[in-house]
Amino acid sequence: MASASDRQKKTVLLIIDPQNDFHEGEGSEAPSYSRDRDPALKLYHAPGSLAVPRANEDSRRIRDMINDHVGCIDEIIVTMDSHFKTHIAHAVCWQCGPRCLKCDPKQTTDRCSPTPFTTISSKDIIDGVWAPVDGLQDKEWCLKYTEELERKGKLMLCIWPEHCIIGSYGHAIVPDLNVALQHWAKTRNKAVTYVMKGHNCRTEMYSALKAEVEDPKDPRTALNEELLVKLKIADRVIICGQALSHCVNYTVRDILNFWHHDLVSKLVLVEDGKLYYYIYDILLYLSILLFLSLYMILLLLYY
Ligand SMILES: [Zn+2]
Ligand SMILES: [Zn+2]
Repeated sequence: MASASDRQKKTVLLIIDPQNDFHEGEGSEAPSYSRDRDPALKLYHAPGSLAVPRANEDSRRIRDMINDHVGCIDEIIVTMDSHFKTHIAHAVCWQCGPRCLKCDPKQTTDRCSPTPFTTISSKDIIDGVWAPVDGLQDKEWCLKYTEELERKGKLMLCIWPEHCIIGSYGHAIVPDLNVALQHWAKTRNKAVTYVMKGHNCRTEMYSALKAEVEDPKDPRTALNEELLVKLKIADRVIICGQALSHCVNYTVRDILNFWHHDLVSKLVLVEDGKLYYYIYDILLYLSILLFLSLYMILLLLYY
């Protein structure tokens, strides 16, 4: 049972991008034409365009965690990946150059677009392997953007399947979890805070705190100080959501970058429904490293 001092502590739950496009979908795998006709299939939720394996199970665990600890969670912040169709990481913004083997070199319109997960470097733009589509992306910016990613040692510009398009089903919070969020809001008489990210078409934004490359024309791509402060004043920050490889990963990295080291111990990372205290992970890692080093020394001495 929580002590009085525990109850006075402020716990913030930060859920990263728990949206339909990052989930596998639910219900029957019936083809789309029969979904509208058969009422028994009405609970079918189409798979997301960028589904993360086991995201459904993950979100159900987060749902249960919220429902089981409504009184202990003082604030919920949900980040939402939010894109327009003409986002720099969507294929529609790019077309092949004159050396493409699939297209006629004289053909200037209807050239092919990069397939999902194609990466584009600054050299690809200079060499004309890929060119931004006129009117959708500015070539000068794209070159500067990719060079900046390379200079900072960031991930290369990657063409993702279109996902989390604002206003689409894929952009919405996964239904199971949304019910739990609304239940928490009603019980605690508080509003869930939603933080949109990625809606600037000229830059990618994996971290909820700032874009991969800041767009000088758009302050929303700079560090989100308001969010950082909200997390800083909490006594405990529980982080969970999708996807661990990108958005959760880069959000946690940014929090660690901008926080003094004595704040790190209040971060709790939830992975597959298990709680990982970040600091304990580091200690465990160091212990294993120490054990392996001693083992190697003993082996060398023995032989
Ligand atoms: Zn995205
Ligand atoms: Zn082509």
